[in-house]
Amino acid sequence: MSAREVTEEENHRVHHGHHHHVDFTGAAGNGPRTSWFEVKEVEPGVYLLSEPGHVNNFLMVGTKSAVLFDTGLGVANIRKVAEEITPLPLLVVNSHYHFDHTGGNRLFDEIAIHRIGAPLLQAPPPPGLAEGYMAYMQRLLQAWGPYKEADDLYFHLLTAERMIRPLPREFDPATYQVVPTVPTRLLEEGDLLDLGGRKLLVMHTPGHSPDCICLLDEENGLLFGGDTINTGPIYAQLEDSDVPTFAKSTARLAGLAGSVRQVFVCHFLRVENEPRFLLEVADGFKRLVDGDVTFRQNIDCLNTPVLEAVFDNFSVFVAAETPLGLHAAL
Ligand SMILES: [Zn+2]
Repeated sequence: MSAREVTEEENHRVHHGHHHHVDFTGAAGNGPRTSWFEVKEVEPGVYLLSEPGHVNNFLMVGTKSAVLFDTGLGVANIRKVAEEITPLPLLVVNSHYHFDHTGGNRLFDEIAIHRIGAPLLQAPPPPGLAEGYMAYMQRLLQAWGPYKEADDLYFHLLTAERMIRPLPREFDPATYQVVPTVPTRLLEEGDLLDLGGRKLLVMHTPGHSPDCICLLDEENGLLFGGDTINTGPIYAQLEDSDVPTFAKSTARLAGLAGSVRQVFVCHFLRVENEPRFLLEVADGFKRLVDGDVTFRQNIDCLNTPVLEAVFDNFSVFVAAETPLGLHAAL
């Protein structure tokens, strides 16, 4: 299915009223939760638009415009959800070019990404990527049933916003494609996005991929970590990952631990984190580079074997065949 067909189909649904899952009353009273997106105002004017278990996107609203930090997988219409929250002009800012952060780009007119990500965003995806991720979705849903059952009986950690959703009824996994898009604005380290009453500083934090950025709302003490800070496995095993560069970026972010209040991350179910977490991640990467970790074997979401260095509140995946000679530490 082409991007154009998807758009027309979505328009059709909107105009014929088959897609009104948006519920402003919401069980939590927090915002327009839909059948796919969890929507929650996590700070005044900052909304989590999450695809629980997959990716967390954020909408930051100013007085003149709004920024949508990542557009998710593209399996449901994130633009519609964002426009239910704010009528202001929307600029999409991608944390980096990877498909799970840019899948909804095709629904928008204004797309910004770090300069290094521009050609990567427009390039055809690696073969098998879409199929590989759809297979992961199936495994995730299979795991969810018994996990939820055990939580209901014993653990009670799963709050409403942490519920894994079945795929939207109107979405056919067999047609899922990673659609290249063309950015309309290129970002650089130090760029300041002024939304009126809210400024977002672009920090270039390569490592996970060469184009990774974080957004810093200095006045409100908020850091949006992209894929540089995550609460779960941090992916440093990819072909375009670089562990020493990653360590430098996390050390730089650790310098913000004394000035930010809240750190928001793009993956897994612990979305809001204390600034101290920045110190933990930087320390973990330092130990990784210093060879001061042991590894266990694991697989990533595309079923690729990886080595995992496990820390108290997160872990780091590195390539099973790593150029750092980390095997020596096994
Ligand atoms: Zn990524």
